[in-house]
Amino acid sequence: MRVLLTGAAGFLGSHLAERLLKEGCEVIGVDNLSTGQRRNLDRLVAYPGFRFLQVDVARPLEVEGPLDWVLHFASPASPPRYLKLPIPTLLVNAEGTRHLLDLALKKGARFFLASTSEVYGDPLVHPQPESYWGNVNPVGPRAVYDEGKRYAEALVTAYHAHFGLPVRIVRIFNTYGPHMDPEDGRVVTNFITQALKGEPLTVYGDGSQTRSFCYVDDLVEGIVRLMEVDYAGPVNLGNPEEYTVLELARLVKEITHSPSEIVFKPLPQDDPKQRRPDISLAKRLLGWEPRVPVREGLLRTITYFREVVAQGFA
Ligand code: NAD
Ligand code: UDP
Repeated sequence: MRVLLTGAAGFLGSHLAERLLKEGCEVIGVDNLSTGQRRNLDRLVAYPGFRFLQVDVARPLEVEGPLDWVLHFASPASPPRYLKLPIPTLLVNAEGTRHLLDLALKKGARFFLASTSEVYGDPLVHPQPESYWGNVNPVGPRAVYDEGKRYAEALVTAYHAHFGLPVRIVRIFNTYGPHMDPEDGRVVTNFITQALKGEPLTVYGDGSQTRSFCYVDDLVEGIVRLMEVDYAGPVNLGNPEEYTVLELARLVKEITHSPSEIVFKPLPQDDPKQRRPDISLAKRLLGWEPRVPVREGLLRTITYFREVVAQGFA
């Protein structure tokens, strides 16, 4: 298979690229390096089937040769990052998705969108099934991301309905693991690097808000399985193990044996109070469920970040 993958220098994109390369696919990785890491590309260039294009996919894109898939994973994903890049975040999800859909049509390729649990906003239904329409503030700070992804889902669905383009939409819930950017400000990387450096763990608000954390290998397995079935609607992928943010801070402290204290900082505006995927559809459709418990996934991630911190990259 010949695959075009946007966001290849990012956390999820680089894991997915590596999985596809190991399976013998040819992968054209595309990224503008706005939130991605060159170090992630260093892993990928070791594979003969990998080629990299440094391009902003918010602009129209030409590639030579046939394509079997266009996988659209490019987009800032960490709240501090997309809040700093509000217009590029909207554009990569709106214009970027449109240009990549056009490319898929032209090449006769299938299209895969990395969407997000953020489409559910601050959810009033718990856990969140795909049938829930969400509770999103369209003019709040997070709207650049949430509404960007909601528009992208609508556009992908319209290309499927109007042109018959084969599409997939995955709604990804908080995912973590090695090769995340230690500086991107998400909760798992913040807590781990803070704990390893003996700095205070910064809990926003009172830490009673919840998230459900999925280990990256489980997520990638779900994505690959979704590529193999014919289903155009959105599919939740995530780990239903739900933690409060304060519980997560305590767990990271315990696993790292860190003497760091826990400090409380203001809660960002519109921070969702709870989040847990209903994964019944993924279980039924893909025979998929996460295999790596949070404690085990954190252990693996902490082992990776010990090295990153020791090398002075965090
Ligand atoms: P990331 O920031 O590590 O990776 C995103 C990549 O996209 C980066 O390499 C960045 O440079 C690239 N990019 C951004 N704008 C671009 C543009 N205009 N042109 C080309 N490249 C561009 O984030 P991630 O965690 O790997 O997320 C990947 C995808 O998965 C995103 O679409 C994100 O919305 C989605 N997602 C991730 C999570 C998660 O928990 N990690 C959860 C929900 C959804
Ligand atoms: N958070 C926190 N401390 C941090 C970073 C994040 O308490 O140093 C909280 C944040 O307010 C949110 C949760 O952890 O409630 C998850 O944040 P993240 O940015 O990882 O992802 P989100 O699910 O909000 O997109």
